[in-house]
Amino acid sequence: MRNAAKRSSDARVVTCPGRAPGQVELSQMIEALMDSMPWVRDKLAASRSILVKPNLGGGDAPSMTSKEVMVAFCRYLRENYDATLTLGDSSVIGSTSERSIEALGLRGALEPLGVRVVDLASFPVRRVEIPSGRVLKVVSIYEPTLDTDCLVSLAKLKTNYATRTSLTIKNLKGILSGPDKIRFHRLGVADCLADLLTVVAPGLGVIDGIQGWDIDRSVDVGALVGGTDLVAVDYLGAMLSQTDPAMVTYLTLALERGLGGMPGEAEQAAARAASRPFAGPLDNAAAMVLPEGIRVVAGEACSGCISILQRAFRRMESEGVLRGLPPLTVAIGPGARPSREPGRLIVAMGNCCGARDEADRVMVGCPPQSRYEVQRVFEELRDDKDQV
Ligand code: SF4
Repeated sequence: MRNAAKRSSDARVVTCPGRAPGQVELSQMIEALMDSMPWVRDKLAASRSILVKPNLGGGDAPSMTSKEVMVAFCRYLRENYDATLTLGDSSVIGSTSERSIEALGLRGALEPLGVRVVDLASFPVRRVEIPSGRVLKVVSIYEPTLDTDCLVSLAKLKTNYATRTSLTIKNLKGILSGPDKIRFHRLGVADCLADLLTVVAPGLGVIDGIQGWDIDRSVDVGALVGGTDLVAVDYLGAMLSQTDPAMVTYLTLALERGLGGMPGEAEQAAARAASRPFAGPLDNAAAMVLPEGIRVVAGEACSGCISILQRAFRRMESEGVLRGLPPLTVAIGPGARPSREPGRLIVAMGNCCGARDEADRVMVGCPPQSRYEVQRVFEELRDDKDQV
């Protein structure tokens, strides 16, 4: 449950001038980060159990929390605290964290340190009510993350299609049951993350910004961010990737709702100095590469729908399932007003789309999930051309 009081500047940045620390330097950075936050020590010292939740995902290794950071951080915990230590995640649907655990050899690296390594998806979930939830009233969470004395969100510094940045708050999606991961997209990822923060508050958030991940490429940054206020931590993480925090909707919602605070000026200056340019998700619908016969009408659409739509087309092309779509106009954004043309279907994409009432098909979500909503609707239209 959430702690009652939070300090608005509970976040710190440490950097490595060479941007590519070796193992010894990395351990020194972790010690420096933790030493800069004496208020965290009391929390960890009072914990009988600590669960570290990295980004293990099920995706590409460079987009996950690095093995080096996971091992160095767990070693720091082992050497400084008596708590039982567990490291675990549950992946996106369609993959398993177990696969990542095996591919990275995490048990071999961490069990000698006394760290249990688990796929959270192998545990039961427990329903948690969200009394002040705006879109989410109940959520199912894997039990180990609820039963630990201190949950640590150890996230990768990365940009993301759905939420622009994916940091310690977005990393919390991995503690949710599979159906709830999908439900977050249906209801709106940013709103759901803010609702989740009202009932789940990790004792510590740490961003692995040694090597960031920018949609599909690595960026050497050489920084770590940590703190007990995950909003402040993620604010600094966004700055490290030169992403305007005001453009990250879940951060602005969390700040508006008092679920965290802004980092201090000195830490913002440190993040700015260490930052590297990340391209981030596609913002401009006019720059999309569209399959033949597809038009996009965008009106005030944000990067979520634009980049997810582009990603869905690319994925379908690579899977060889793009051919055969009927002529379509995809409307995105609240200001989208496509005109009706004979022989051409209108698909409204996203919960905010202004063309939902007159569309032939609607893709729900904010943004819709690439594989389970966008691709599904396109494949249904391809397989049922009679409706054109
Ligand atoms: S539904 Fe609207 S607000 Fe949500 S990601 Fe799409 S364009 Fe952005």
